[in-house]
Amino acid sequence: MFAFKSITKRFGQTMVAEHIDLQVEAGEILAILGASGSGKSTLLHIAAGLQKADSGEVWLNGENITFRQPEKREIAMMFQDFALFPHLNVWQNVAFGVRLRGVGKAAAREQAQNWLAKLNLSHAANRTIAQLSGGEQQRVALARALIVQPKLLLLDEPFSSLDTALRQQLQQEIIALIREYHIPALLVSHDPAEAALTAQHIALLADGRIIQYGTPAELFRRPVSAQAARLLGCLN
Ligand code: ATP
Ligand code: MG
Repeated sequence: MFAFKSITKRFGQTMVAEHIDLQVEAGEILAILGASGSGKSTLLHIAAGLQKADSGEVWLNGENITFRQPEKREIAMMFQDFALFPHLNVWQNVAFGVRLRGVGKAAAREQAQNWLAKLNLSHAANRTIAQLSGGEQQRVALARALIVQPKLLLLDEPFSSLDTALRQQLQQEIIALIREYHIPALLVSHDPAEAALTAQHIALLADGRIIQYGTPAELFRRPVSAQAARLLGCLN
């Protein structure tokens, strides 16, 4: 299980997080919905250790990891722009994380091939990144994130550049993988439909606070305010 405990963060005068409490069970997705600039990415960066909170704690599987270095947190992140390495081919991109952990080239390549097979990408193992479609690049990014067997998956609008069909397919694949590997995931999104389709719980973020938290059914049935309804796309 992953948890934020009373996370507070400001940038100068801007309060980005004010005593944020959230938790996600293994095998589940928590979607964080909020307007642009509401602090969604900052929360993921705090989870990953890429940014420090001013106060509060980050917990993963019963351990307080607040002060742990990012590379020791066993967390994988996937971003909107994938951030694949253009100078490495597909399997080398996927193998990168296990190579970093000292696994030999042949063994790392085999692990990468297994992940590529799982994501229907075996045919592209030796291609360069530039020779892939957006959806294929997305799959490579997913394989690269999961090959290190992370204990938490952080997804920052990973589907936003994909068309509807591909987006739905990848959403389903991610849901299945998170269940299979029994890891918690935080998904940041602008898209209420995406949150409703993928997440067990949704947190609505506005002005540094969680203005509503619940299952998709609870939120869509009864938004607590006009602001919540707007974030859920029920009001314009
Ligand atoms: P978007 O949906 O546009 O990605 P977001 O919800 O992810 O937005 P954040 O990137 O977390 O928003 O930023 C929250 C606020 O904090 C914004 O006002 C942003 O300008 C500010 N901010 C983010 N990072 C920094 C930083 N390193 N220094 C100063 N201000 C920052
Ligand atoms: Mg963001």
